[in-house]
Amino acid sequence: MNQGSPDLLVVGAGPVGCVVSERAAKIRGWKSLLIDRRNHIAGNCHDRLHESGLLIHPYGPHYFRTSNQALLDYLSAFTSWIPGNYKVKSLVNGELFPFPINLDTLEKFFQCALDSESAALLLSEKSERFPKVENSEELLLSRLGRDLYEAFYLGYTRKQWAQHPRDLAPSVCGRVPIRFNRDDSYVEGKFQLMPAEGYTRLFSRMIDHPLIELNLNVDYRALKEFVKPRIATIFCGPIDEYFNFRLGPLPWRSLSFEHNYHSKKMAQPCVQINYPGADVPYTRSVEIKHVTGQTHPGTVVSLETPRSEGEPFYPVPSHRSDKLYLAYQELAAEENRNAERPVYFIGRLACYKYINTDEAIEMALQAFSNIEKDFLFGRT
Ligand SMILES: Cc1cc2nc3c(=O)[nH]c(=O)nc-3n(C[C@H](O)[C@H](O)[C@H](O)COP(=O)(O)OP(=O)(O)OC[C@H]3O[C@@H](n4cnc5c(N)ncnc54)[C@H](O)[C@@H]3O)c2cc1C
Repeated sequence: MNQGSPDLLVVGAGPVGCVVSERAAKIRGWKSLLIDRRNHIAGNCHDRLHESGLLIHPYGPHYFRTSNQALLDYLSAFTSWIPGNYKVKSLVNGELFPFPINLDTLEKFFQCALDSESAALLLSEKSERFPKVENSEELLLSRLGRDLYEAFYLGYTRKQWAQHPRDLAPSVCGRVPIRFNRDDSYVEGKFQLMPAEGYTRLFSRMIDHPLIELNLNVDYRALKEFVKPRIATIFCGPIDEYFNFRLGPLPWRSLSFEHNYHSKKMAQPCVQINYPGADVPYTRSVEIKHVTGQTHPGTVVSLETPRSEGEPFYPVPSHRSDKLYLAYQELAAEENRNAERPVYFIGRLACYKYINTDEAIEMALQAFSNIEKDFLFGRT
C-alpha cells in the first residue's frame, strides 16, 4: 500500500464504493484507498469469463434498468450499451408461461381469450378479500386468487425464503408486477440495457484514476487500525459485522450457483426460467447469452439454489429484523458523529436493504454530495 493517509478509505469495491471513489477523485481531487475482501471489483454485479470463454454473472443475473436519464448519462461515460433482452418464463405443470403474469399468461392459464378489462374482472372475481393484508400470502391471494398464487408463487417463495408466504411481510412478494397488457419484459424502467463489455469492465474504467488506489483481498477488519483516512471512511459492508454483531446478527438469505456448459448454441428459450415446482431444488436457470449475444458454439446455463448459509444476498424483512436494523442504524449514526473521522454507511449491505444497481448508484451519488457538504460546512 502506498505511503501517506488517503482522504477516503472506501470499504467495498462494489458499485457504491466505485462511484464514491470516482466522484471523490474527479470532483474534489480526493485520494481514495478502495479495498475489497474479494479478489475482484464490481461487487455482486461482477461478471467474468467462464472457462469456456462465455461471459457469466457469478452472483446471479444482473438486469440493468433505470428511468433516470441523468444516471444513464453518468454511466455512459464508462460503457456503451446493448439492449436488455430481459424475458422470463415460469415452468408451471410442465409448460412455460410468460412471467411476470401478463395477459398472455392469463389466457394460457385460464384457456380463454381476454383483454385488459375482462382480465381485471376475472382476477377481481378470483381474488380473496382481507380486512387488512398482513403477509405475502394474503397480498397475493388478494391480487390473484388461489389458483395463480399456488401455481406461480407458493412453491417459488417457499424455496426462495424457506418460509411459507403467510410468514413473510407483504413487501417480500409485492415487488413483482401483474400486467393487464402483453408487455413481457421482466423488469420495469424506461431504459433496459446491459453494459456492452460487462459490468466489471464498466467499473474498472470508472476507477481507473491516479487518485484511486485499489487493494483486493483485504478485509476492513485487518486494516482499520493501520489506515486513518484524513476525511472519512465509506463503509459498504454488512452493518452488523462493522459493530462485531454486538446486537446479534441480521438475518440474510444466500444462494449457491452452478454454471453448466452445454455444447449447443442455445439451451433454453429465454434468459431466465423460474421453477416454482418442488421437483427441483433450484429457483431459476439463467442463460445470460440471450442478453450478451456472444458468438460461441456453446452456452452456459447457471442454476440458482437458495440457502440459509453463505454470503449475504437478500435481507429477510420481518418485524424482528426491521427492529434490529434500526438499532444498528442508531449505532451507525453515533459512529458517524463521534468517530475520530466520520464513517458513512452506504449500499445494500450497510443499509440492510435490497436495492437494484441503479438505486445503489443513485444512493452513492447522493451520499457523495452529503459527504462533500459535511466537508465544506466543517463537519470533517
Ligand atoms: C442475486 C442477486 C441478483 C440481483 N439482480 C439484480 C438485477 O437483475 N438488476 C439490478 O439492477 N440489480 C440486481 N441486484 C442488486 C445489485 O447486486 C446491487 O444493487 C449492487 O450490487 C449493490 O452495490 P453495493 O456496492 O451496495 O454492494 P455489493 O455489490 O454487494 O458490494 C459490496 C462489496 O463490499 C465488499 N465488502 C463487504 N464487507 C467488506 C469488508 N469488511 N472488507 C472489505 N470488503 C468488504 C464485498 O466483498 C462486496 O464486493 C441483484 C442482487 C442479488 C443479490
